[in-house]
Amino acid sequence: MPPFAPSAHLPTHEVTNQPGPFVGRNLYATDTALREAALREGGPWIDAPLHRLGEVAGTEHVLDLGTQANRYPPELAAFDRQGRRIDEVRFHPAWHELMTLAMAHRIHDIAWTQTTGGHVAHAALLALFTQAEAGVMCPVNMTYASVPVLRTQPDIASPWLEKLIGGRYDPALKPLAEKAGVTIGMAMTEKQGGSDVRANTTRAAPLGRGTYRLTGHKWFCSAPMSDAFLTLAQTGRGLTCFLIPRITQEGQRNAIHLMRLKDKLGNRSNASAEIEYHDAWAQRIGEEGEGIGTIIEMVHHTRLGTIANTLGIMRMALAQAVHHVSGRMAFGRLLIDQPAMRAVIADLALEYEAAAALVMRVARAFDAADPPGRAFARLAVAIAKYWLTKRCPAFVHECMECLGGGGYVEESPLPRLYREAPLNGIWEGSGNVIALDILRTLNREPEALTVYAEEVTLAKGGNTHLNRAAKSLLDRLRARRHHESEARYVAEQLALILQAALLTRHAPPAVADTFCATRLGPDGGRNFGILPGSADVAGIMARQTG
Ligand SMILES: Cc1cc2nc3c(=O)[nH]c(=O)nc-3n(C[C@H](O)[C@H](O)[C@H](O)COP(=O)(O)OP(=O)(O)OC[C@H]3O[C@@H](n4cnc5c(N)ncnc54)[C@H](O)[C@@H]3O)c2cc1C
Repeated sequence: MPPFAPSAHLPTHEVTNQPGPFVGRNLYATDTALREAALREGGPWIDAPLHRLGEVAGTEHVLDLGTQANRYPPELAAFDRQGRRIDEVRFHPAWHELMTLAMAHRIHDIAWTQTTGGHVAHAALLALFTQAEAGVMCPVNMTYASVPVLRTQPDIASPWLEKLIGGRYDPALKPLAEKAGVTIGMAMTEKQGGSDVRANTTRAAPLGRGTYRLTGHKWFCSAPMSDAFLTLAQTGRGLTCFLIPRITQEGQRNAIHLMRLKDKLGNRSNASAEIEYHDAWAQRIGEEGEGIGTIIEMVHHTRLGTIANTLGIMRMALAQAVHHVSGRMAFGRLLIDQPAMRAVIADLALEYEAAAALVMRVARAFDAADPPGRAFARLAVAIAKYWLTKRCPAFVHECMECLGGGGYVEESPLPRLYREAPLNGIWEGSGNVIALDILRTLNREPEALTVYAEEVTLAKGGNTHLNRAAKSLLDRLRARRHHESEARYVAEQLALILQAALLTRHAPPAVADTFCATRLGPDGGRNFGILPGSADVAGIMARQTG
C-alpha cells in the first residue's frame, strides 16, 4: 500500500530535492521505442494487450509484488511434518499473484493462438512484465517454449497442450484432468556438463509403450513446481527427450526428488533446484537417440524470452534513471539539464532504442514458417542474445550511477535489476556457446545469412558508417569460414550492423545517425556517455521524456 501523505517536514530538516515516487505509469504507453517496434513488427492488434499489461505492471501494487516476491524467496519443503516426502517449494503469496497475472495476460500462450505477430506479442508482453518482476518470466517463458516440442508428439502431449493453451495459473499439485492450467519446465543441465549436454548420464530404462523409468540427477532445474518437465536421459540408442510429469499415470507423486534450492545472485523470487530422478516415470518425446534434436526447439524458443527479459531489465533501469535525473538538482540545475548527464542518458537511450528494435525484429522472425526464415530466426536470436546480454550489466550499472548513492540501496529497484542482469547471458547458452552457435548456423545454413543480408540491405544508402561496416562484414563472411576464436567478433559485428540497419530504416535520424556514428563509426567510446558534438541529443532525449 502506498504510504498516506508522507511528511517532508522533519524536526531537523526538510526533505527536498528528491523525485516523486515512480508509480502509476503505463509502462507500455510511456515507452516510445518499444511501442513503435512492437506495432511495426507485430501489427496493430497487439496494441491492446500491451496497453493492458503496461497499465497493470506499472501500478504501485504490482511493482510492490515484485519487491515482496524477491524479499521473501521460496523455501524447500522436501518433507511434510510427519517425515513423508513431498518435494514442494513454498512461495510468498506475491509470487502466486504475479504468476496469476502473467498467465492471465497470456504471456505463456499468446504466440500459439495468433496467426501473425504472436511471438512479437509474447516478447513485448514478457519485456513489460519483467519490469515489475523478472523471476516469474522463467516458468512462463519455459511453458511457452515447450509447445513446439510437445506438438511433435500429439499422442502424449495433446492433454497437456489442452491445459496449457488457454489455461490459467493453478499452482496446486493435482492430476492433469483436474488442473485449470499447467506450466512446463526444462531439465537438461547435469553436474558434469551444462553446455555439452551430450555428457548427460541420467539413464532411461524402457517399460514398454513409450514409457521409461529415469535414474540420475539434474544440477539445475528451475521452476521445480512445474507440472511436468522436458528432460534428457540416455537410452541404449543415446540421448533421448522425455516428458516427466510430477504425477504418474497411476496418480502417485513421481519420484522427482528436490535435493536443495540454489542460493542465487539474483532471480531470487524464482526457485532453481537440484533434483534427482529415482526410477521416475517418464514418456518418450521423439525417437530414441534424437534427444538433442527434439529438445532444441524448446531451447530455441526460450532464447527469445532471454532477450525480451533483458530488454525489460534495460527499460526499467533506464526509466528509473530518467525519472531520477528529471527530479533531482545538483549545482543549481536539474541533472537532466547538465550536459555531461544528458550525454549519458542519451547514450543509454540509444542503446535501449537499438535493443528494442532488435528484439521485436527477432521476435517477428519466429513467426516465419519457411526454411530460410526459420534459419534466420535461429541466427538472429543468437546474435541478439549474445550482444544484449553482454551489454545489459554495464547498462544497468550506468543507470544505477545516475541515481547516485540511492541507486545502490535496496529500496530502489536498481540493485535487483543489477543482480538479474547477467543471468540471461548464462542460461540457454552462455556467451561463447552462443557465439559458436552463430558460426555453426552460418556454416550449416547459408540461407540464414542471405536473409540477414537482405534485411541489412533494406537500409542501404541510409548511413555511410552502416554501408561500410555491412559491406566489410558480409564480404568477409561470404569469403571464408571463421575460426572459433573469431566467434565473438563475428557475433558483435552482426548484432551492431543489424541494430544500425533497423534504426536507420525506422528510427528518427537523431537516434539512427548517432547510433551509427558511435557504434560503427569513429565517434563512440568504451563507456556510455561519449557522443560526438554533432549529436542531436535533444532529439534523442525527447523520446525518453515525452
Ligand atoms: C539461475 C539458473 C537457472 C538455471 N535453470 C536451468 C534449468 O531450469 N534447466 C537447465 O537445464 N539448466 C538450467 N540452468 C543451467 C544453465 O543452462 C547452465 O548453467 C548453462 O547452460 C551453462 O552450463 P554449465 O553451467 O555446465 O557451464 P559449462 O558448460 O561448463 O560452461 C562454462 C563456460 O565455458 C564456456 N564454454 C562451454 N563450451 C565452450 C567451448 N566449446 N568453447 C569455449 N567456451 C565454452 C561457456 O560459454 C561458459 O562460459 C540454470 C542456470 C542458472 C544460473
